[in-house]
Amino acid sequence: MTATATRVLVLNSGSSSLKYQLLDMHDGARLAAGLVERIGEETSRLAHTPLATGGDTRETEGPIADHTTALKAVAAELAADGLGLDSPQLAAIGHRVVHGGLQFTEPTVIDDAVLTEIERLVPLAPLHNPANITGIRTARALRPDLPQVAVFDTAFHTTMPEHAARYALDVATADAHRIRRYGFHGTSHAYVSRRTAALLGKDPSEVNVIVLHLGNGASASAVAGGRCVDTSMGLTPLEGLVMGTRSGDIDPAVTFHLKRVAGMSEDEVDELLNKKSGLIGLCGDNDMREIRRRIDAGGEDGARAQLAFDIYIHRLKKYLGAYTAVLGRVDAVAFTAGVGENAAPVRAAALAGLEQLGMAVDADRNAVRSDEPRLISPEGSRVAVAVVPTDEELEIAQQTYALVSA
Ligand code: AMP
Repeated sequence: MTATATRVLVLNSGSSSLKYQLLDMHDGARLAAGLVERIGEETSRLAHTPLATGGDTRETEGPIADHTTALKAVAAELAADGLGLDSPQLAAIGHRVVHGGLQFTEPTVIDDAVLTEIERLVPLAPLHNPANITGIRTARALRPDLPQVAVFDTAFHTTMPEHAARYALDVATADAHRIRRYGFHGTSHAYVSRRTAALLGKDPSEVNVIVLHLGNGASASAVAGGRCVDTSMGLTPLEGLVMGTRSGDIDPAVTFHLKRVAGMSEDEVDELLNKKSGLIGLCGDNDMREIRRRIDAGGEDGARAQLAFDIYIHRLKKYLGAYTAVLGRVDAVAFTAGVGENAAPVRAAALAGLEQLGMAVDADRNAVRSDEPRLISPEGSRVAVAVVPTDEELEIAQQTYALVSA
């Protein structure tokens, strides 16, 4: 790395997608961002936004066979803006990796041994880690000399005490199969809990925060003095809150019942719980905007949307209560991600009736729309309630840069 190398390319590889951002860590500026979708299909699409120049988004459609071709296309777009992957200003590539198991507690420079370890974790994240590995291999082939860093979605949660991380399962069986609660969205929980402390003018070590990451996937975490002590997702992202398409917490016996009584296969149950449950299963929509629109329109359809909303809110309240008990003292509740940042009715409903816990929302403050972190609790509240936009790419870039510039 040269002294002028301050740029980090952040890659988030999905099974058929590649999201990226190029950031300059000298000043945190975002130079470019984009997304390749439907990799492997005839109708692949690359949308590239040259943020450095303020230019319009450039869209290209047409077959992109695999991740290698996708990254080459991204590299060509970046090169067209004078930001190519061969630039001496590029310090590193930071990869989002979903599952880091117990061993990866920190961002890690990727070498062959690290890649082998990430591969060993594939049984724990069979959908996500293979895509992340493909992204890493592709980027290493294009720039073998450049440091590549893995930033794990599970890492922030590795501080959970054993009594929070362990299921009440037979210990030998659990250990033999690495079954425990790992938690996900860790990059977001880390970033948002730190930003919440900053909003309060405090050091993270001084505050206890409940973070509600409410996107299409959703998770809650209890963060005590900057360290995660509990989180709602478990062995997989299925556990916990009601999500866009995932059920969240459910009696595990429902799965036996579906197999024995409804005659469903393993894969069908998996698909039901991960893709066809949660808000979409309850009312046919997983977009909170549409759910609110239907509630406002009323009628029978509105009532169905209202029930889905109420189930979603009820689960949130249960986690707020549980994490208040886990933390003992709560200084702040932070809402983040698509729903948390944008859906004022969700924030108001989740905290309604929790005055005894010191939690309340000021209606006027809650109605403000902004991209900035902000407080929405009434003046003088015991618990600060905040909306803190998450920024996983910035967090990955910062962690990557801190590691390679140390
Ligand atoms: P994420 O996974 O963080 O990108 O969040 C995506 C979800 O955020 C969508 O499925 C919507 O439910 C929700 N969302 C996005 N924008 C809004 C909005 N303006 N109002 C309510 N919900 C929103």
